[in-house]
Amino acid sequence: MNTPRDVLKQVFGHDRFRGPQQAIVEHVLGGGDAVVLMPTGGGKSLCYQIPAILRPGTAIVISPLIALMRDQVQTLTGLGVRAECLHSALPAGAAREVMARLRRGELDILYTAPERFMTQGFANLLAGLPLALFAIDEAHCVSQWGHDFRPEYLQLASIAHDFPGVPRMALTATADGPTRADILTRLELSQARIFATGFDRPNIRYLVEPKDQPRRRLLRFIREEHPGQSGIVYRLSRAKTEDTAQWLTDNGIPALAYHAGLAPAERDRRQDRFMREEGLVMAATVAFGMGVDKPDVRFVAHLDPPKSLEAYHQETGRAGRDGEPATALMLYSMNDFAALRRLIAPEGGEGTRTRIDLSKLDALAGYCETDCCRRQTLLGYFGEARLEPCGNCDVCLDPSEPEDATVAAQKALSCVFRTGQRFGAGHLVDVLLGRPTSQVERFNHREVSTFGIGADLTKDHWRAIYRRLAAMGALAPDEAGHGGLVLTPLAWDILKGQRPFAMRLPKEPAPKERRKRSR
Ligand code: ADP
Ligand code: ZN
Repeated sequence: MNTPRDVLKQVFGHDRFRGPQQAIVEHVLGGGDAVVLMPTGGGKSLCYQIPAILRPGTAIVISPLIALMRDQVQTLTGLGVRAECLHSALPAGAAREVMARLRRGELDILYTAPERFMTQGFANLLAGLPLALFAIDEAHCVSQWGHDFRPEYLQLASIAHDFPGVPRMALTATADGPTRADILTRLELSQARIFATGFDRPNIRYLVEPKDQPRRRLLRFIREEHPGQSGIVYRLSRAKTEDTAQWLTDNGIPALAYHAGLAPAERDRRQDRFMREEGLVMAATVAFGMGVDKPDVRFVAHLDPPKSLEAYHQETGRAGRDGEPATALMLYSMNDFAALRRLIAPEGGEGTRTRIDLSKLDALAGYCETDCCRRQTLLGYFGEARLEPCGNCDVCLDPSEPEDATVAAQKALSCVFRTGQRFGAGHLVDVLLGRPTSQVERFNHREVSTFGIGADLTKDHWRAIYRRLAAMGALAPDEAGHGGLVLTPLAWDILKGQRPFAMRLPKEPAPKERRKRSR
């Protein structure tokens, strides 16, 4: 038994490697360092367990979760692999016994917690032993960008100096750009090979649309594309889950609400029904989903945006587990993003956490506004390069080409300037269209030079143009956080004609027309 394939088959009982597992195993067997980015359930453990068995010496696996360590050790022991774990919950006698086995060279794999690993005694013990490799599990814990920063992970950089020549691996399912960068620099893995894979869910079709009468859009979506099928509708608040469930029920679609405000027994009962029944729609907050492994969820709809692209990937990933076609629909508005920004940073607040959360939200807004393939954008965020557009998202399926809209953009930006850079898109569009609203009258905006100059386009067009300008950074939210828009230097480039502006304008017939017809 001396090839990775033999070990896979004889120890773990699997016939084939999954995705890049073989490449990773071979890379580490050859002495290389590796960063492994794969979603949960992707098969990361084998990537270090097989080299651990094949390389001489003990493999040291650093993991923050005691329960997980115990599980792994139990499984491995059952397969005949010599594995143990060392953590703070272990009685002193048992810990001594593990150390003794380690010293005698009786272990293939030792799992340990980062704080234990950093103690002087343990480091000294390891220094004299033959080691197969180091695997740092949940490596995102080294980064404040991850959701689970653990300062003790920062110390793990010392492994590079203290154990030269021993291959190091960092593994995680949280792989957005900044976290990735932190893992590489903080764990001194800049020379490591990066393996990112498994984030794609090819059977999920991604649709992202500006929000306009969201409940009606949802109803049409379910009736036209997923009648009688199971789905999840994510909403931001408990009240909205109730409202959405009621709306669907009133319109003949069986639906339940789910949120953390329900009694545990009631929550269980509703989850059970969702698992058992066909064609039930769950209108839920993010409280719903963990451990919901229903294979035939045919759609996930976000009527409110999630908080990051990771959350979006995870939540939409609950659709189509059976591999059959499924749809992820997201409806968003600039107001949603403005509200979420205020929630994250109430007083234009500062601090690292705030900056990180805002930037994650911006990445999501960018995804909503992109003119490129959604899947390419999403996977790119997880470090998984994809050369070809996917052909299975709204952008790929939209045959229209971006058209030059420089003049329209100039009108839109000029209107921001003429009204004093303190209004949101809703009012600006009214001014462009020349609508005599009470706000227009109150601020005397009939008098500004941009009043009525946008009558050649529709409200939907102008809204889309403002969203696009905000997404590309030509417009920024005002400092006070009142939802006003201000011009950035990029805006002036467009205004001065130094930079062209192109976009796909919303298709005709305008959404309103379509709605009427389908009613
Ligand atoms: P992760 O750590 O990435 O969340 P695991 O390593 O726990 O994922 O693997 C998830 C599941 O996939 C496990 O049940 C494991 O046995 C299984 N698995 C991993 N690799 C293979 C393979 N090559 N063939 C079949 N099953 C595999
Ligand atoms: Zn695509």
